[in-house]
Amino acid sequence: MTRQAENGQLWQTEPMAICSRLRAFSTSIFTEMTELALRHDAINLGQGFPDFEGPEELKETVVEAIRSGRNQYCRSAGLPELVEAVARHQAEHYQLEYDPLAEITITCGATEALFATFQGLLEPGDEVIVLQPFYDAYPAGVAAAGGVVRPVTLPGPDFRIDAEALERAICERTRMIVVNTPHNPLGRVFDADELGAVAALCQRHDLIALSDEVYEHLVFTGEHLPLASLPGMAERTITISSLGKSFSFTGWKVGWACAPPELTAAIRAAHQFVTFCTPAPFQLAAAHALGLGEAYFQPFLAAYQSRCDVICDGLTTAGFDVMRPQGTYFVLADIRSLGYDDDIAFCRMLPAEVGVAAIPTSVFHVDPGSNRHYVRFAFSKHRSALEQALERLTTLTSADTSGSSATGRAAKGSA
Ligand code: PMP
Ligand code: GLN
Repeated sequence: MTRQAENGQLWQTEPMAICSRLRAFSTSIFTEMTELALRHDAINLGQGFPDFEGPEELKETVVEAIRSGRNQYCRSAGLPELVEAVARHQAEHYQLEYDPLAEITITCGATEALFATFQGLLEPGDEVIVLQPFYDAYPAGVAAAGGVVRPVTLPGPDFRIDAEALERAICERTRMIVVNTPHNPLGRVFDADELGAVAALCQRHDLIALSDEVYEHLVFTGEHLPLASLPGMAERTITISSLGKSFSFTGWKVGWACAPPELTAAIRAAHQFVTFCTPAPFQLAAAHALGLGEAYFQPFLAAYQSRCDVICDGLTTAGFDVMRPQGTYFVLADIRSLGYDDDIAFCRMLPAEVGVAAIPTSVFHVDPGSNRHYVRFAFSKHRSALEQALERLTTLTSADTSGSSATGRAAKGSA
């Protein structure tokens, strides 16, 4: 059965079969838009994955590990090779010292680390503050654990953390604040003042911080500042990251959570019953990846900077009001400059009418009625794919200015 949910998503199954905690979430927006892209053979700038592959030597590591028999269950908290590599990475990049065996847990992607954190730490009714817009796994993970999401909006057009609004959201039931820097979907990299305000509140109200840093190596403006590196924060912060974005193998699903021993024990209590362990050959590849160092990261970032320039300039030419990202591989475009005002309708129309897929950002809000004019484009794609998508998107301008486009594809977003 296909039905429309209140938040605009399409139900793919009978919703009543889904438990009440998860009924509001159903099919993710990424699945929905990727399906639309496939159906219409559109260029998929929606779901955030690269259309190119990561380093060849990492593939070789996986193949070699399989051939040499690293194929059975392994240490639940992660292979020693990988927890040590994560500890070295945190020390070298951020001067953060972790005990690899007691403070680092390897999971199936950052997604599982998030889920295990919520499952391991929340009591039913505990409140978790999330900055809105938010990555969709946070509210679903909190809800699955019986917690309550308390959204605090990042106000446009700057989308800076509003410390006063954050403090107003804190109450007796508040247990945790979730921060994501660099931020998906905004592309913001939070600065020392903003993170300092979060740190002060966490300490004043004795809260746990969960810092999702999966885009840590995709920073174009400013620098990545791990929340755990602020004074007094290492002992109350869970830092989550993963292999997918930094090494262009999103399907390998290797992630990690770095946290002091008591918090780590809670994460592991859940992790051992969610997946028990992460596929060993991919863990070995992740250990190898983290050792590649600057010789890898510098050209990786330079290539992304150039993709970022191509898409930002192209979207501007196509008539969008573009918010240049400070980090991540996403850019937000305001569709009002093209005469549209409904991001969900716009993104449902785009694959069929224009041949491009994108993600509406209102679905990353508790109240999807708000903020309905930003659309997220992923630029983790070959330059040729970006250029072709941009060419197609210029037909929107002609639709808007002339009332009809040459291709007849562009239409007003009221589908
Ligand atoms: N957090 C954020 C902010 C993300 O954008 C994503 C998507 N990659 C994840 C977590 C999940 O990461 P992974 O694919 O490693 O599970
Ligand atoms: N993180 C990816 C994005 O924001 C999506 C991952 C997924 O589909 N679960 O596009």
